[in-house]
Amino acid sequence: MLKGKNAVITGGSRGIGAAIAKKFASLGANIAIVDYCSPEVAGAAKQEIEELGVKAEAYFCDVTDSEKCKEVVKNICEEFGTVDILVNNAGITRDNLIVMMEESDFDAVINTNLKGCFNMIKACGRNFIKKKYGKIINISSISGLIGLPGQANYSASKAGVIGLTKAVAKELAAKNVCCNAIAPGFIMTDMTKELDTDAYLASIPMKKLGTPEDVAKAAVFLASDMSDYITGEVIRVDGGIAI
Ligand code: NAP
Repeated sequence: MLKGKNAVITGGSRGIGAAIAKKFASLGANIAIVDYCSPEVAGAAKQEIEELGVKAEAYFCDVTDSEKCKEVVKNICEEFGTVDILVNNAGITRDNLIVMMEESDFDAVINTNLKGCFNMIKACGRNFIKKKYGKIINISSISGLIGLPGQANYSASKAGVIGLTKAVAKELAAKNVCCNAIAPGFIMTDMTKELDTDAYLASIPMKKLGTPEDVAKAAVFLASDMSDYITGEVIRVDGGIAI
């Protein structure tokens, strides 16, 4: 389904990003992981993907650093030939009530979750426009759709990702570049392991948490030709929380 496509996945060495990387690779895509974890973690993730029979590379990059994003995308284009799919998945939380929230925690979350998407879309944009093809998938959150208490910074960043998705979708539509977002609900990863999930289960109509693979399946749809006439859309993968 994705045979021969080259996909760049930020935060691709663990959690939802790793599940997307593995799912894409199992469908034939070559994978460039863009992450800022240790070389050991990135190396292990790269090896797992290579074992699926595709090309894989891991690039060290903090997505908040626009110059580094540019440099890494240039290196990926040299190494892989081109980029077909960009998944902006890298993200962080720094939760607190608004009156207690440190300005630095607000800035860190906006810079990673929102500006990181901007940096990577900008770095890949000309490549997509030139070849009149591209699939951009931004990982937002239901927190950006409905707002969640204790997450003013995170909700703002993820709502921003949806605005960014829609603007970029309109700008690049005529160039055959699709830009869509996924809004996951509560997904079982390191990000949610500290949460009291029982408290959240009551608010989930499907009465279960999601898995990284649930998000990866929606990402496959948006990365493949199954969604060629869909752009500017936000797909919730949330068991119904934000209905
Ligand atoms: P995770 O397990 O904490 O993984 C986040 C990944 O992003 C890690 O690989 C991390 O790298 C990377 N990353 C963070 N900041 C980065 C930066 N500045 N530059 C490059 N890479 C960076 O999180 P997850 O649960 O898989 O979440 C993935 C995405 O889904 C995030 O955007 C998150 O907001 C969104 N999301 C998650 C949930 C959920 O319930 N889990 C729900 C809605 C939305 P390191 O390994 O080096 O830390």
